[in-house]
Amino acid sequence: MKKIITLLIIISLALVVSACSPQTSSKDEADVLIIGGGGAGLVAAIEAAKTGKKVILVEKMPALGGNTIISATGITASDTIYHQESGISFTKEDHFNRTMSTSKDLANGELVRILVDESASAVSWLKELGVTLKVRSEAEPFWLVPVEGHYGAQLVAAFVAEANKYSNLEIRTNTKATKLVVDNGTVIGAEVQNNEKTYTIKSKSVVLATGGLNNNPEMIAYYNEKYANIHTQMTTPGATGDGITMALEVNAELVDMEFFQVRPLSSNGNWYHERIISTEDISGILINREGVRFTNETAAPRTVASEILKQSDSLAYIIFDQRVLDTHADAKKAFTIGRGEKADTIAELAQLIGVDGATLDATVNAYNEGKDSFNRTVLGKILEGPFYAVKTLPSNHYTMGGLKVNELAQVINKSGQVIPGLYAAGEVMGGLYGDGRVAGNNTLDDIVFGKIAGYNAAQ
Ligand code: ADP
Repeated sequence: MKKIITLLIIISLALVVSACSPQTSSKDEADVLIIGGGGAGLVAAIEAAKTGKKVILVEKMPALGGNTIISATGITASDTIYHQESGISFTKEDHFNRTMSTSKDLANGELVRILVDESASAVSWLKELGVTLKVRSEAEPFWLVPVEGHYGAQLVAAFVAEANKYSNLEIRTNTKATKLVVDNGTVIGAEVQNNEKTYTIKSKSVVLATGGLNNNPEMIAYYNEKYANIHTQMTTPGATGDGITMALEVNAELVDMEFFQVRPLSSNGNWYHERIISTEDISGILINREGVRFTNETAAPRTVASEILKQSDSLAYIIFDQRVLDTHADAKKAFTIGRGEKADTIAELAQLIGVDGATLDATVNAYNEGKDSFNRTVLGKILEGPFYAVKTLPSNHYTMGGLKVNELAQVINKSGQVIPGLYAAGEVMGGLYGDGRVAGNNTLDDIVFGKIAGYNAAQ
């Protein structure tokens, strides 16, 4: 009898305890929720986890890495250990000035100053994580490139290995954030979806690290109609602007959204330098599906891109001769990666790409005679066979604009106030690039602002 009474007491105590438990299961609660598992999200998660707080990172794709993993070349940084070692100088001032002038002075100088000031320690941290770099050359002293191997792949592998050291950091892949949860003006978590269910992750703060819009042509066209019908050859699938959409719902302010780094010559995951079509004498032309030229190929890359996008099927063919192939490494790359066509005559080449032979012949002859109705002053010649044709699909390489943030990576609303509980880092964040980005600053900003966002979100 005594035993039965004790059992009844235990059961009723258990019922009382469970009735007092919160609705959200404690496994879906964190101090910091990070949305996006590319470079910025992983760095933010590591930094937040270092403070000992509980961190959950959600990534909508099956794998981590985002567009960071396809970063091909390296990182830009100044006054680093590698500059000291090599004796090749790229100072903080050089870095600051180059970043500001490339942005056409539209970047936020205070944020750029932070980026520059923290770049050397970001690079030293990478070394601690096992990513060893070197200065690329005296001609390009800003670039730090891997001693060997693919840059983006090494970077992401190093971040993931570091993140895995923290038992207070949980990573949930195949988990997409769909909506920020707000209580009384403060962001307190997000609704997320996996293959089975929709649920809420509650958190004291949220870091948006969802990347850019590169895989969302409609959204790109919404912010800049010149890029309507842009292709998506240079992006991983997750870059669909979700962070912008979710933040707009909580009244976030955006900056510089009209600026994108588009590449006119691009296909199959790569872009090819415009010198293939812009070098004096040794360069080719662009033709449309009808076999005719339609633009000054030497115009600014973005202009060339938007002119191509106006043609049938929003594409063009790069036509060049053997001299161009022998001269420009990017011509070879375009032919190989872009799976180009090759023929001994222009008429045969035309046939291979489904263009009228007589029309293409006339186009090439007119060009070789210096006839040009697009104000191209630097003319090439297409003379020596074999001749080559490569299809090009202009694509977005980088989203310059994004969420307005302050120096603590807090997201600012349309009235200029901080949105409590909301932070942003990486490509989703605006303010660093204005109308132009120094190559390699992007993975630097993932690290610098990823750390700032992760640290502050954990306070
Ligand atoms: P960054 O360089 O700013 O880190 P990346 O493109 O490398 O940008 O990474 C952004 C990551 O965010 C990608 O892995 C992408 O799949 C992920 N992501 C985008 N939207 C969501 C979302 N709604 N929920 C979860 N993850 C997302």
